Amino acid sequence: MIIVMNSGATDEQIGGVVSKIQSFGLDANVSRGMERTVIGALGDERTLDPEMFNSLGGVEYSMHVVKQYKIVSRESHKHDSIINIGGTLLGGAKVQVIGGPCSVETQEQMDVAAQHVSDTGCKLMRGGAFKPRTSPYTFQGNGEEGLRMFRKAADKYNLRIVTELMDARMLDTFMKYDVDVIQIGTRSMQNFELLKEVGRINKPVILKRGMSATISEWLMAAEYIAAGGNHNIIFCERGIRTFETAYRNVMDVTCIPVLKKETHMPVIVDPSHAGGKTWMVPALARAAIAAGADGLLVEMHPNPCEAWCDADQALNPQEFASLMGSLRGIAEVIGRSL
Ligand code: PEP
Ligand code: MN
Repeated sequence: MIIVMNSGATDEQIGGVVSKIQSFGLDANVSRGMERTVIGALGDERTLDPEMFNSLGGVEYSMHVVKQYKIVSRESHKHDSIINIGGTLLGGAKVQVIGGPCSVETQEQMDVAAQHVSDTGCKLMRGGAFKPRTSPYTFQGNGEEGLRMFRKAADKYNLRIVTELMDARMLDTFMKYDVDVIQIGTRSMQNFELLKEVGRINKPVILKRGMSATISEWLMAAEYIAAGGNHNIIFCERGIRTFETAYRNVMDVTCIPVLKKETHMPVIVDPSHAGGKTWMVPALARAAIAAGADGLLVEMHPNPCEAWCDADQALNPQEFASLMGSLRGIAEVIGRSL
């Protein structure tokens, strides 16, 4: 942290800043220039906040000099982290596609979906048992019964399951059904108590980007999980809100290279919730892989017209299989496989 004093700052004001720094157990380095005095806080500055200094007399401004995220940063860990999901690796040379319906509806729907996911060569399946719906009057998910149906269908085809956790009180139930990957949805990205809870376990976590979150806020949210001891974090871009109304969200392709530079954790993309329409999904999916995403989260339903949730954006099994074919070519061009 550096604190820049204004040109008229008195010795007393400089002393005030120095003692504030020292009260947090850090050392202060005072550098007196011709026009300004700059004070550096030496030590772990992450416990300090610019707000602590900006209101002190004689302070012009203050700012951090190191990144606020530590464990998830590329600075602390140079190589790509590969997440092991029950033997399936995410983040390595192989691009992983997680397919499945928006929500778990019936046993039959899940059985048929699991068969298609498996037939296309995917090892990971998605499906929500607890649904964060905009209206409290629409289908909220089948809850624990949904987890049971999902587990049963997935086990038949040896698939690993990805499902959203909205409430920390359900964590034991998620453990009971041996959920392989816990998804934290866009609406929960800054639910810090929930993040701390999933930080205490060692299950892989997909952390979706808040629909209005900056990359830095997203990285800090991941740091909450990592700080608890769980380093199995996968970032998922799912589209952000902008002024554009022609589609559901803007898939921020730019965040892919930025995140790959800032963090060693894998980055996946959800083109379904970005575009919001089935016909957009293949183009967005291909763009994400071409830009370096480590995987995709794609909604696929055995019969999209009948889907209880997000029917407009679900691929049918044939569309899903054909998307997988076209992604294979892109993955190869950039030296990866699918
Ligand atoms: C989902 O993946 O089913 C979902 C609700 O996504 P998001 O949190 O990105 O809206
Ligand atoms: Mn959905």
